[in-house]
Amino acid sequence: MGYNQKMFGLGSRRSIIREIFEYSKTRAAEIGAENVFDFSLGNPSVPAPAEVNEANCDLLAEKDSVLQHGYTSAQGDAGVRAAIADSIRARFSVDISPNLIYMTCGAAASLSICLSALMEEEKGDECIVFAPFFTEYRVFIENAGGRVVISRPEDKTLQIDLADFEKCLSERTKAVIINSPNNPSGVVYSEKTVKAVCDLLSRKSKEYGHPIYLIADEPYRELVYADVTVPYLMNYYDNTLVCYSYSKSLSLPGERIGYIAVSPTMEDGANVYLAVCGAGRSLGYVCAPSLMQQVIARCLDAKVNVEAYKTNRDLLYGGLSACGFDCVKPDGAFYLFVKSPSGDAYEMHERAKAHELLLVPCDDFGVTGYVRIAYCVDRARVERALPAFRELAKEYGL
Ligand code: PLP
Repeated sequence: MGYNQKMFGLGSRRSIIREIFEYSKTRAAEIGAENVFDFSLGNPSVPAPAEVNEANCDLLAEKDSVLQHGYTSAQGDAGVRAAIADSIRARFSVDISPNLIYMTCGAAASLSICLSALMEEEKGDECIVFAPFFTEYRVFIENAGGRVVISRPEDKTLQIDLADFEKCLSERTKAVIINSPNNPSGVVYSEKTVKAVCDLLSRKSKEYGHPIYLIADEPYRELVYADVTVPYLMNYYDNTLVCYSYSKSLSLPGERIGYIAVSPTMEDGANVYLAVCGAGRSLGYVCAPSLMQQVIARCLDAKVNVEAYKTNRDLLYGGLSACGFDCVKPDGAFYLFVKSPSGDAYEMHERAKAHELLLVPCDDFGVTGYVRIAYCVDRARVERALPAFRELAKEYGL
């Protein structure tokens, strides 16, 4: 066969989320969209802040459109990177230079670029992910030549299990990905946990005689509900790369814009940054979208209406817990992680489907027996779905 079998495998195996999405469209045509409770996709339901649309229009009116739509330098427009560096300095007290910021097409690109920059297949490099984890990590790590090692979470809380994490570390560990607030659980890792993870990484890096890089995947940083703070990892660990995205924080997932920030205290950081540039180049990311770079530089303090997600979180967490489902209380992101009463995620997915509830079975996310509810939907959908969840609970005898 004249094509790459690994890529064929990736392309031909449709993700369960996409499958549900297609089913949802078919079902909506049959019974009406208002009767289908699709909670499968993490597509923000809250509109982008008004400033974003204004900045788009202003930029097109103000500036030469040839320039607006032209290439920027590969690492991103210098002024945009300077604005982001200023914002990081102001918000997190990290004295970062614009020369350590690399503009990307969102977090997915940031992650695949970082992993390609770091992993060395010939050395048998491994990357640890904390379960439950965003399933695409596996694709990005393996494509970069790395091996995935899964660290199991604590049972009930789904926080990081430090003892299990320590067991996962070895001389082959090159990188660790941490995602908080977490997709799919909504869990935010506490400062205490983050410190313990970083202490362990510092100790093990010394013991093995090479750096272990911490990759902070942060598309949900701004989406937090309770009085919790999401620790900024550069303040805890020198060898940190932040993969940021505006997909969720400004509701711009289709615009493909984000960045990589390399910690100013990273060992050999300037060269790691050059490896990031090389990886971006080799993956064919010529530059991040020009107009969007300019737009976000003008909207660094803009915020989406997080309250809308919080209302849905409260309705669903409260409603499902009250009828007996075992849910992990999400402090951030827009996902509710629910344990299947039978212990079988696919069985729950099928049973829920009979009530027109479209939930994602999450065994591929590294923990078995859970479904994910993406509550980035209209509040009306949540309210209409609650009786169906109650019926489902009754069916389980909860
Ligand atoms: N990381 C996590 C944990 C995600 O949930 C997603 C998207 O849902 C991404 C990365 C990729 O986001 P982006 O749209 O910025 O590429």
